[in-house]
Amino acid sequence: HTASPYYFEAISLLKGTFKLSHFRKNQLECITATLDGKDVFYLAPTGGGKSLCYQLPALCKSGKTQGTTFVISPLLSLIEDQVLALREKGINAFRLTNAADTDAAHDALPRLRKGDNVPLVYTTPEKFINSNIVQDIVVHLYERKLLARFVVDEAHVIGGWRSWRESYASLGILRERWPDIPIMALTGSANELAIEDIKESLALRNPVHLKQSFNRANLYYEVRMKPAQKKVLLQEIAGFIQSRHKGDTGIIYCQSRDECEDMARRLREEFNLSARHFHAGMDRDEKRVNQHDWSKGICKIIVATIAFGMGIDKPDVRFVIHATMSKDMDGYYQETGRAGRDGGPSDCLLFYAYRDVAKLQSMLTNPHDSNRPPPDEVERQLERLSAVVAYCSNESDCRRVLILRHFDEEFDEEECHKSCDNCCKLGKTVKENCTEMAQQAVQLLSNLIDSGRDRGITLNMFKDVWRGRKSKNIAPYSGLSGYGAAANIDHTMTERIVTQLLCRQVFSTRRTTSGSGFGVNYLEVCFLLMVVAIVSQLFWAVGLQR
Ligand code: ADP
Ligand code: ZN
Repeated sequence: HTASPYYFEAISLLKGTFKLSHFRKNQLECITATLDGKDVFYLAPTGGGKSLCYQLPALCKSGKTQGTTFVISPLLSLIEDQVLALREKGINAFRLTNAADTDAAHDALPRLRKGDNVPLVYTTPEKFINSNIVQDIVVHLYERKLLARFVVDEAHVIGGWRSWRESYASLGILRERWPDIPIMALTGSANELAIEDIKESLALRNPVHLKQSFNRANLYYEVRMKPAQKKVLLQEIAGFIQSRHKGDTGIIYCQSRDECEDMARRLREEFNLSARHFHAGMDRDEKRVNQHDWSKGICKIIVATIAFGMGIDKPDVRFVIHATMSKDMDGYYQETGRAGRDGGPSDCLLFYAYRDVAKLQSMLTNPHDSNRPPPDEVERQLERLSAVVAYCSNESDCRRVLILRHFDEEFDEEECHKSCDNCCKLGKTVKENCTEMAQQAVQLLSNLIDSGRDRGITLNMFKDVWRGRKSKNIAPYSGLSGYGAAANIDHTMTERIVTQLLCRQVFSTRRTTSGSGFGVNYLEVCFLLMVVAIVSQLFWAVGLQR
């Protein structure tokens, strides 16, 4: 490490100003590269310590470029927190955001114009692109050789589609207008494609590419089948907290605002747990109070939509529970990543049910939703969702291997050390080929549809026919080929198979006027053969616990 010409200055800043004892992996490399005037691409998980990689060089006197480091970040709350934290360390940091127009900015601009030493200026991409004032300042600094580098934080947003992030896509102007100013791009979530996209959009020049492992060794990952009844789910969640996390701080993610409020209330009233809710529909003050009280430990559990968590840096979150699955693996990683930032052991528990998949799918494809993204984006999001489904419905492979594969990182399951549910099952489970049972189910459903087209088949009716229940509405089907074929199969097994078929879109549900319709996802009978082929491939790979 001492090979870095900047080592001594860097280490003295690390200890003196940041009060830290040593660099984490890649931090010094990143700092050295940017001080050398090179472009840097740094990929590290949330909590990996990316901020230090530009905050520290901003204070160095020995770098090849001198002056102000411009940080472009999409998260206002994060900017606010960081500027405050830097000022507490006695560092002259400013933010140029709309919120700051009135106060600090008035102070910052004259200082920057005068050529005062302002090591760090934070701004949002919108402000950077659209504000003449900000542009003038950059030009002013550039002409006086007082522009040290640009930092683009959360760079993965560049590849996003949402118009409110269009400014991010316009950041190509950094290189166009100020070609010799080094750029550092930071991200906590990107796959190979997204990385290429970032490098190209920012026109990075032979960037020093640094990547930190995404493995979070102190997190335990677990996926459970979600109980059908709300009450049972609530009991299970409360039981989990009371038995394993009494008095601990945690986050519970729910799908809707109502669910958040309802669950927080019931955890308080029925289980005497210290829970509050948080979602985007609350007014500002209420949000601030609940977030503040949770941060300070006045309340222990926050029940929230994914609106909660951006820029949260609470170190001692001991559990993150997903009462509903995430929309994509990036989201899941970010959300679970809020647990255990202090390195202490923490639990990530996800409840998974087919009905949640269906709900998310229909939200994406709802033709009445005016906010709906363009068709190919819908397609992409459906695909991302199915990656989560594959993750959740996998009952045999190491969760870490599956999660890290999403970040193109190879991981040896030995390294998991039994800190995921599937690794704990190892040796206790056998893989079973369910192809025949699955094919049987597909065949039965198509027979049912052929025979009872006018009545409409529901999911429950189907299961009853398959298991051969003797009830009034099932009686008419008792002569059907395949009726009762699963009579001797374990209940949870038939449940699993039906869930798998639904999740893999072999079966489909559709809303009809008389409730829920249910069918095989094929257009002609000949397609059935293909469905059977898909089923057989898939089920070879799926291990089921016995
Ligand atoms: P990121 O931006 O990658 O999500 P942060 O920069 O917010 O991560 O850092 C996460 C936490 O790690 C912070 O509390 C920070 O103080 C701490 N941290 C960063 N670098 C080090 C280090 N070298 N040693 C100890 N703690 C560090
Ligand atoms: Zn594992």
